[in-house]
Amino acid sequence: MSNSILSIDIGGTKTIVALCSRDGQVIDPQRAGRPADKDAFWIRESLFERIDRLREIQPEKFSLIKSCGIGFGGPVQNNRPVLSMHVPGWEEIDLCREITDRYGIPACMENDCVTQALGEHAFGAGKGRASMTFGNLGTGFGGGVILDNRAVAGDGGFAGHLGHICVVPGGRLCPCGNYGCLEAYCSGTSIGKRACEAVEIHGEIADPLADAISKLGPDEGAGPVLFDFAKKGDPLALELVEETLDYLAQALSATVNILDIRLIVLGGGAGIGLSPWFDQLQKRIAGHSMPLCREGLEVKVAELGEHSLLLGTVPLCQERLGS
Ligand SMILES: [Zn+2]
Repeated sequence: MSNSILSIDIGGTKTIVALCSRDGQVIDPQRAGRPADKDAFWIRESLFERIDRLREIQPEKFSLIKSCGIGFGGPVQNNRPVLSMHVPGWEEIDLCREITDRYGIPACMENDCVTQALGEHAFGAGKGRASMTFGNLGTGFGGGVILDNRAVAGDGGFAGHLGHICVVPGGRLCPCGNYGCLEAYCSGTSIGKRACEAVEIHGEIADPLADAISKLGPDEGAGPVLFDFAKKGDPLALELVEETLDYLAQALSATVNILDIRLIVLGGGAGIGLSPWFDQLQKRIAGHSMPLCREGLEVKVAELGEHSLLLGTVPLCQERLGS
């Protein structure tokens, strides 16, 4: 039996602990949500409980674990979160060291989208390609860049934040504090917000898109409704999709021109929602790219869903820990 990786996904609202095999199998994922009033210390204990449970149900596989990889939903430097945006307390916890102390296995941590990029590159939409740009259109707009089979880190270790490329100088305020970032226009949340604003401006009571959006609950984003209407040919929904494709093309052409990367993989709810228009997106990215870099340019949808992060810990551990 070959050794496995202990994989941990730490998101803002949920966490997953699983074993991953070197050939890309996710074994016994243990999921848990986070009650809104709980902090990082609570999550840490919940993670330890689930790791202990995995040790009980998979004793043989657990004994062969050589390393632990963690994908964290926020900026990470030197295997530690530097900014905990959704859950208080992570900056005070050295989870990698605690896992090593408690279970005797080396551990490493990377930003969740960089980890997802590694997973899609090794086992999903980027399999067999040397370089790839990954974008995740969810609550925010995360990204990761794989160049010559390695995740690009940069001087501070924060490379890959595609969501903060400026697409509208002086435009909408982004959660990062700057104005006009791609994330402020094309994250799943921002697309939904733009749809709500557009139907308000449109102002026709009889407009079916406005009607469908007005029926959404307070926690439901308007993105999925928008994509459904655009697929049916609704003119306002199509206009919004077109605008979204333009912003995306403008930002995503950066990695084509700077790094000569010709595969772009998009995931997250809105990434999947936009996939019927990927041919158009590809053409628009090509339109912003240097002619020499256009050949073979491809936009693909992420293939692994939530497994992209878990499986990304396999190449991550290989890269960082050599095991
Ligand atoms: Zn930003």
